[in-house]
Amino acid sequence: MTKNDFIVRQKTLKRYALKISLVHLAVLALFMLWPQKKGLHGTDPVFAICLIACLFGGIVLNIWLQIRKQKQPGYCCPKCGKRFGKNAAKIVLATGKCGRYGETIITE
Ligand SMILES: [Zn+2]
Repeated sequence: MTKNDFIVRQKTLKRYALKISLVHLAVLALFMLWPQKKGLHGTDPVFAICLIACLFGGIVLNIWLQIRKQKQPGYCCPKCGKRFGKNAAKIVLATGKCGRYGETIITE
């Protein structure tokens, strides 16, 4: 993979993470309309429990989807499977190799 391919894939990952976060925010915004439709107050325990479940469930789902995407071929090291998060991607861009076992990632 060339350096440009690697950079494009990193940008794709960032866009994917942004999309997931925006969907989560949209779901939360729609969820906030629920008490007004049902005539519930914001302090209703059922609403509070559901809000917390939606908030933290969304965060867990967001992280899980991002990790799942990063484990796909082309987004992780082909030898050891190390995900190229922010720091690992910086190492790959600087050295052209995986930071764990030195597998060559970027070939010019
Ligand atoms: Zn590796």
